[in-house]
Amino acid sequence: MTPLLENHLAGRWQSGAGAGTPLHDPVTGAELARVSGAGLDLADGFAFARMQGGAALRALDYAQRAALLARIGEVLTARRDDYLDLSLRNSGTTRNDSAFDVDGATYTVSQYAKWGAALGPAHWLADGEPVKLAKDGAFQSLHVLVPQRGLALFINAFNFPAWGLWEKAAPALLSGVPVVVKPATSTAWLTQRMVADVLEAGILPPGALSIVCGRTDGLLEALEPFDLVSFTGSADTARAIRGHANVLRHAIRVNAETDSLNSALIGPDAAPGSEAFALMAREVVREMTVKSGQKCTAIRRVLVPREHAAAAVDAIAAGLAQVKVGDPRNEAVRMGALASRAQLDSVRAGLAQLGSEARLAWAGRDADLVDADPRRAACVMPHLFAVDDGDAATQVHDLEVFGPAATVVPYRDPGHAFALARRGFGSLVASLFTDDAAFAARAAVEMAHAHGRLHVVTPAVAKAHTGHGNVMPASLHGGPGRAGGGEELGGLRALGFYHQRSAVQAPAAVVDSLRAGAAS
Ligand code: NAP
Repeated sequence: MTPLLENHLAGRWQSGAGAGTPLHDPVTGAELARVSGAGLDLADGFAFARMQGGAALRALDYAQRAALLARIGEVLTARRDDYLDLSLRNSGTTRNDSAFDVDGATYTVSQYAKWGAALGPAHWLADGEPVKLAKDGAFQSLHVLVPQRGLALFINAFNFPAWGLWEKAAPALLSGVPVVVKPATSTAWLTQRMVADVLEAGILPPGALSIVCGRTDGLLEALEPFDLVSFTGSADTARAIRGHANVLRHAIRVNAETDSLNSALIGPDAAPGSEAFALMAREVVREMTVKSGQKCTAIRRVLVPREHAAAAVDAIAAGLAQVKVGDPRNEAVRMGALASRAQLDSVRAGLAQLGSEARLAWAGRDADLVDADPRRAACVMPHLFAVDDGDAATQVHDLEVFGPAATVVPYRDPGHAFALARRGFGSLVASLFTDDAAFAARAAVEMAHAHGRLHVVTPAVAKAHTGHGNVMPASLHGGPGRAGGGEELGGLRALGFYHQRSAVQAPAAVVDSLRAGAAS
């Protein structure tokens, strides 16, 4: 029997009831561990987090909490090799792809530690400048942001077990809000290990960080007024959480990051042979294959001037043909497995559905899998599709195949390209490949209403740009509509979710005193 990973609640490690749910190596199929969150006293654990963890965190100022984050960053850095190993085994990802998750987590924590240190010894934030409510300024209004006094429950997706925890926990802990994380079951091991390491290091006060592993009844019922939920996963689950009776009853604030049909747009100037065109092909291949395409930000639609559509297919296919797929333990392998056999089934079904509408332009062959048995391994080859009429297509704009798949879609003119991008009905990110700065600026503003982030790549930033799918802590992560309507990161903007904004209408002397004690 493999070990049952423990939960940490009410300041102590606790085993869930029953045999638990197995976690597997998605390449070999071997069982690695089990998780169970059954039978836990969630009400008691959540109360401990709010009362002990929350109070202890709020007793510290921003700079002191930022110092805790810096120490967490050190612990995560010291254990990096262990984490890459766990990720390889439980997520089936290559070392590079695992590093994308693990290093992204550490970098984000470290960034928030730096930004938080600059907020200094304050306990709340001033939001803007005071406004006079009386002509002579004797009575004024000042908005303040104060740390929320509930807990933050993170319900996370399987694809980023490391970054998915820390990109949320860094701004929450910096804000003084205790965290309870419920990682996705299939890849919970890495999250659980990171939490265990940070707790063992004794950095955080008791109750500041808790973890519940496995599907647990009563998670949302245990929420109380002033608690917060930050969800990452599918749109269906987001809807169920938002519509949950207890969430509605207490008007629990919910941030949701869901699925998204992101696009790459090749500018009209970027003809085959140009550097911008080559940069597009390289980035699309990268996006389709990093983490086997299991990125919420991955490029799913490639919008191309129609006269260049065939050349785009050829260039992307040529890049995909170079990518060896299989067991990430083999150093030649550049793309590992999907996270589980369940995901493999879902991706296969999605590929068939997409293929019923779009033409399969290129696909790798299962026979070329390296060191992986297709009967056991959750490996799937990259699939590139194409359509001739993007307006008539529906699945292409609506069906997120959460694997190494994308579709080339031709456009007539820029207005048509923007309209096609909008057919995602709200996306996390779109990238623009062009050498025309005026077009890039116009397109970015034109597309911003439907996207959380616009990533512009010109030849001048070929080496400097951070990558379409890389979520940088300084930039907003989230998107309208289908992408969930949530907002994360964006530097200190992220603290807004974990604070309550309140207007203080008061005599000038009180407002002056407030401003003197606040960070802004
Ligand atoms: P999912 O099925 O919605 O699961 C996400 C999380 O919700 C998991 O922890 C899951 O637990 C939990 N969950 C499911 N049903 C629940 C319920 N009724 N009550 C409470 N918790 C519940 O999504 P997924 O398949 O794991 O994730 C893939 C999707 O996430 C993709 O569509 C992707 O686009 C999206 N995603 C978005 C972002 C982003 O930042 N926008 C990032 C990553 C992924 P169990 O694992 O125990 O079932």
